[in-house]
Amino acid sequence: MYIGRFAPSPTGELHFGSLLAALASFLDAKSNNGLWLLRIDDIDPPREMPGASQRIIQSLSDYGLQWDKEVIFQSERQHLYNDALQKLILANLAYPCFCSRKDIKQRSGNGFYDGYCRKTDNSAINLESTIPLAQNHAWRFKSADNQITWQDGILGEQSCEFPDLADFVVLRRDKLWAYQLAVTVDDYLMGITHIVRGNDLLHESAKQLTLIEALNYSTIHYSHIPLITHADGQKLSKQNHAPALNADNACKDLLKALSFLGQNVPSSLKTANKHEILQSAIINWQPQAIPKNNISINS
Ligand SMILES: [Zn+2]
Repeated sequence: MYIGRFAPSPTGELHFGSLLAALASFLDAKSNNGLWLLRIDDIDPPREMPGASQRIIQSLSDYGLQWDKEVIFQSERQHLYNDALQKLILANLAYPCFCSRKDIKQRSGNGFYDGYCRKTDNSAINLESTIPLAQNHAWRFKSADNQITWQDGILGEQSCEFPDLADFVVLRRDKLWAYQLAVTVDDYLMGITHIVRGNDLLHESAKQLTLIEALNYSTIHYSHIPLITHADGQKLSKQNHAPALNADNACKDLLKALSFLGQNVPSSLKTANKHEILQSAIINWQPQAIPKNNISINS
């Protein structure tokens, strides 16, 4: 069975770029008679905006993007990430790293991690006392040295290799869980089979695929959609102040998002309500029509 998901971080409200990702993953799931789950990736409190989780949930509802099952909050699932880290450590696939960002930059020049702390012998580590109370060090995943290749649902064959696949952090020095580990564990536990999201996450998908393999999880089918950019090529994002979605524009925004996704939008939908628009979009969904390249919002 197809199980898809949308997993925003509550660092701000949803904007048109996030609507595109939510809509594409929703339509892909629903046109495959699948489930579409919602997870709030709230494991980085310093970056979060108070109230954003509830506003994201409200926005999706306002736009008619109804998820299946209960909303999952990553902040309530830290023990599961801890279990996965222990599994990696026992398999000798994770190691403590004492390097500062400055150390790494001085050694490698480009900021990519060079595997300096890989030599640590895990058998000397007392798991009970170190996790999650890791003192003064991060935990890194011992990423495979080889390149990883996979078939993307939209972009076709993709590959990623060192240094983009350099050993990445799974538990930060400040004891916050890294995005990679938490996402991989939750996608597995939620039974996710398909992920549709923006192509800015291509390297993250590669890293997740290496973690999926290391943890012996079932693999996931990824599809990466184009990003909406400003005229200067900058991604539409919370960081560059993309306006929050406004429920009053739901129908207009949905139609606009469908056309950005390369879908045929019948003119009869111009007067339709959001449910009719989504119903029609599910029936007529053509993922092969999604453009591969980023789209300027001014085009
Ligand atoms: Zn290190």
